[in-house]
Amino acid sequence: MPGPGAFLFGEEERAELLDVMETGYLSRYGSENDPNYKRKVVTFEKEFAEFSGAKYCVAVNSGTGALMACLAALGIGPGDEVIVPGYTFIASISSIIHARAIPVLAEIDESLTIDPEDIRKKITDKTKAIMPVHMLGNPCKMDEIMDIAKEYNLFVIEDCCQSAGAAYKGKKIGTIGHIGAFSLNVFKTIMAGDGGMVITNDQALYEKAFGFHDQGHKPNRMGLEIGNRSIVGMNLRINELTGAVALAQLRKIDKIVTTLRNNKNKLKEELRGLDGVGFRKINDEEECGTLLTLIFEDKEKAVKFAKKIGATTISESGWHVYNNMEQILNKKTVTEYQCPFVCEKYGREIEYHKHMLPKTDEILERSVNISVGVVDKGLGAPYGISILSGDEEIQKISQEIKNMIKSL
Ligand SMILES: *Cc1c(COP(=O)(O)O)cnc(C)c1O
Repeated sequence: MPGPGAFLFGEEERAELLDVMETGYLSRYGSENDPNYKRKVVTFEKEFAEFSGAKYCVAVNSGTGALMACLAALGIGPGDEVIVPGYTFIASISSIIHARAIPVLAEIDESLTIDPEDIRKKITDKTKAIMPVHMLGNPCKMDEIMDIAKEYNLFVIEDCCQSAGAAYKGKKIGTIGHIGAFSLNVFKTIMAGDGGMVITNDQALYEKAFGFHDQGHKPNRMGLEIGNRSIVGMNLRINELTGAVALAQLRKIDKIVTTLRNNKNKLKEELRGLDGVGFRKINDEEECGTLLTLIFEDKEKAVKFAKKIGATTISESGWHVYNNMEQILNKKTVTEYQCPFVCEKYGREIEYHKHMLPKTDEILERSVNISVGVVDKGLGAPYGISILSGDEEIQKISQEIKNMIKSL
């Protein structure tokens, strides 16, 4: 079961797709004067940049690809350490490993986003960047994070994959740090099957991210541009079919986020003041509203409640928790993922093991997710409402939750 954008796939997406299919012109590049070229990807980039209040946007093939392009644009590589929370999707961590850099896991706090105090504790002379992850729609504590980044001269890469549409203190996420990455996979606020975006206000970073996504080329090339390629890139391009769906979805994002916030507030109003349980801390009311997280006072109650709704506590859910990432557990980044050259040159080894982040474990063991707009077993949210739910259903579900909590 997918995210809110997928629930709303309809006429508008079909119309944009048909527009492209009429001519069959699928490449993102084309001539302004060619009537067959419908400019879906380029228009999507322009509109997403405008929506975000960012100067630049490049669309790429996934959120993972977007993170890799961000790291490449910042020149993060062998031996560099990047601080990332232990509660996130594996892609935040794997993109750092594939940049041949070293992920340093940090604790979260009761907002379920990275704990600024723990960031300070994890800084070494090798630290190059912080990757705050706006988890489950909730913006990170960006003021504190940006203060630390300035103090230690670090880059900030915002992983916005779970929170398109959210804002922090009036600024859209992804525009507060140096560069931001988004995903268009089917679980996200808006989707195109797969896809992603990089946004930034820095022209040099934009050109590097763009070049990384297309074999080193300058933005929006016409033809080959031999002699004009300053970096070695890859191919992370999307085509016009993906661009068409992304464009139609983007034009629904305000409606999606407003609906989710309203629905979540209705649920919260019904559930406020219950004994032994509270809500996750929200760092800005302009969050996405995709999920409601209940944090119980004791672990046993959380486990019992989760069972009743056919879910698990977040600590046991899917693969967003470092404890459940068998890909990295008991491995050492430098020796097991990186080439011998890197090992010899950059000696610091970090081993990842279960329960290395006690505060994160303690919070997630008491936390249970209720769906508001993202129905996802992997996030521990198979139960709740969707973006299509009306007042009657919201009322019914909140009554069910209340009764279950009272009977624990
Ligand atoms: C979904 C997600 C990604 C990766 O997105 P894909 O498009 O699936 O590659 C990265 N980080 C976080 C936090 C995510 O939730």
